[in-house]
Amino acid sequence: MKILTSHISEEKRFFDFTGRKDRLGIPELDDDVHVHVSAYRSGNDYKFSGTVKTRLRLSCDRCLEAFTLGIDEDFDVIYSIDELAVKDEHLRPLSPYDDKIDLRPYIRETLVLTIPVKQLCSPRCKGLCPVCGTNLNRETCSCKNEVHDPRWDTLKELKKTLENAEE
Ligand SMILES: [Zn+2]
Ligand SMILES: [Zn+2]
Repeated sequence: MKILTSHISEEKRFFDFTGRKDRLGIPELDDDVHVHVSAYRSGNDYKFSGTVKTRLRLSCDRCLEAFTLGIDEDFDVIYSIDELAVKDEHLRPLSPYDDKIDLRPYIRETLVLTIPVKQLCSPRCKGLCPVCGTNLNRETCSCKNEVHDPRWDTLKELKKTLENAEE
């Protein structure tokens, strides 16, 4: 995912890269990573914007089944040889002696951020029965699985209070 700085001019150009899934150090990757990016130079800045597409293989937090998630993420990043770039969190500093820009670390970071903190195969996933472990998306079980509804607590309390008041 390297682009020679000499290939980036003030006129926008497009580049395509394919990153092998086993070369990015992200175990969740289930497909190669396809990057389509435009680049141009503006003064001290090299501006990139594009999309990264791939697929992740995750495991559902509720039912523990594996599932895949398609990734189609837009990105914008600026590499700058401006000395002030070191202090600017929106810019990635570049040495004026660098003859190429490697987008791989940035693409890797972008992909890591797409991995959801809460992984669900579906928002409606019913999960596993806490008693027998049956996957409730596929089967039902006969376990008594009373869901504790806190709204009844208030009513119970009220009932108790009324009973006490009558005594
Ligand atoms: Zn699930
Ligand atoms: Zn059960």
